[in-house]
Amino acid sequence: MSDGKELEDLTEPPGTVLVVVAHPDDIDFGIAGTAAALSAAGSRVVYRIATSGEAGGPDDMDRAELKATREAEQRTAGEHVGVTDIEFLGLPDGHLESNVALRKEITKTIRSVKPDVLITQNPERRWDRIFASHPDHLAVGEAAVSAAYPDSRNPHFCPELLDEGYEPHTVPELWIGSLDPVDVFINITDVFDAKVKALSSHTSQVAWIEDVDALLREWASTVGSAHGFTDGTLIEAFRRIRTI
Ligand SMILES: [Zn+2]
Repeated sequence: MSDGKELEDLTEPPGTVLVVVAHPDDIDFGIAGTAAALSAAGSRVVYRIATSGEAGGPDDMDRAELKATREAEQRTAGEHVGVTDIEFLGLPDGHLESNVALRKEITKTIRSVKPDVLITQNPERRWDRIFASHPDHLAVGEAAVSAAYPDSRNPHFCPELLDEGYEPHTVPELWIGSLDPVDVFINITDVFDAKVKALSSHTSQVAWIEDVDALLREWASTVGSAHGFTDGTLIEAFRRIRTI
């Protein structure tokens, strides 16, 4: 039941879905339910994570140890939602900028993975939810959109990429998390427990959360009810951008 809005039909899911974010745990706070639903429906879901989160807490942990810890946590989280193709791009946590260098890195990723759908972070600052608008998130979102259109399809963008074997690829569709007005509604009710396990895998990051299940359930049910899904359906929502 909804006010005219439809759940995304995953009976014929996209073949390959590439998720590009800034930090380990971004996916699991945000869209891991969608990753789980897509994986279960038969999509190939691939994570590429710009940094290894080495500038995060705990503040007293050795940085190299934290980097290794967070990469391991992310791999465990991925397993809970059926995602094992995970790579870290090795860029400096806390220093990401939406510039040609970052666009080039993401273009290489797109040309390698050849996604049908690219999921990335909202490049627009949310003044009502400042914690979601970490500068690295804004940078990755903006650069990923630019990489999807026009860079990855344009052979004249960084033409040396052709010599390195990165042939142009057109990403037909982007799903951007929480970019209003949202129009893609993924029903995560059946995979919600996997999302809880995925976020809970980030042991170094979630100690402040008293009840991960309750927090994620509140978020997903709030998104659902905000869009007219009044029967308790748990939802993750995106804005669809078509590029062809
Ligand atoms: Zn983050």
